[in-house]
Amino acid sequence: MIDTHAHLEQIEDLDKALENARNDGIKGIVGVSVDLESSKKILDISKVSSDPIVYAGMGMHPSEANPDDLEELVDLIKENVSRLKLIGEIGLDFFYKWVRKDDQKKKEQREVFQRLVELAKDVDLPISVHSRGKWRECFETVRDRGIKDCVFHWFSGPIDVLDDILAQGYYVSATPSIAYSEQSQEVVKHAPIEQTLIETDCPVYYRNKFGDGKDGFRSEPKDVLRTLKLYCKLKEIDEKEAALVLNENARKLFRIC
Ligand SMILES: [Zn+2]
Repeated sequence: MIDTHAHLEQIEDLDKALENARNDGIKGIVGVSVDLESSKKILDISKVSSDPIVYAGMGMHPSEANPDDLEELVDLIKENVSRLKLIGEIGLDFFYKWVRKDDQKKKEQREVFQRLVELAKDVDLPISVHSRGKWRECFETVRDRGIKDCVFHWFSGPIDVLDDILAQGYYVSATPSIAYSEQSQEVVKHAPIEQTLIETDCPVYYRNKFGDGKDGFRSEPKDVLRTLKLYCKLKEIDEKEAALVLNENARKLFRIC
């Protein structure tokens, strides 16, 4: 199984988490970053971890959008482009009221997002988009710049935007939130498996909705198997068959073998 979205540099005991993943049969992890520093870290991690294979992505999360670091990040991406599998995670997050009220923050988020989408187009890498609270604008930004390969990670927006995402040939991801969020469940049920990826977004906090007696905890890549289980339950499909399709989707999108 491949975990298609992990913040490895944020995991407290990474060696242990990679060992756990290996023991549970996780073959690959797509690592994403949120700023300049974490971009450097995921690159280093990808150089040393071969089982599971760690694939590196570089980006700047909207909540960390910092135009002062942007050109340095662009240079870092260009220098390492042959080692990278994606630009991510990038996007907009206007979910919180304080962001919606802050014109400067919104401007910075848009500047960073647009620059990195254009870069992805230039260097021909797929992108992972965080679109919370600005679903349609994120979709249009990506589509209007001619991006062909894209996943709307943790998409929890309206179904009409989802339909446009799917019609464009983009992917959405199934995340731990399908355990408790009705909107996320709706999205996953609506999107065909052929356009779905599966991920942990670790170390995101898992709420206790798994019915396995474990209280809330910080996730790690091996927990992608929990997402898979939940996904298959919702879609009423066989886990083994689903895993084959979902892994194939990840390979296709990120061009990994
Ligand atoms: Zn993330």
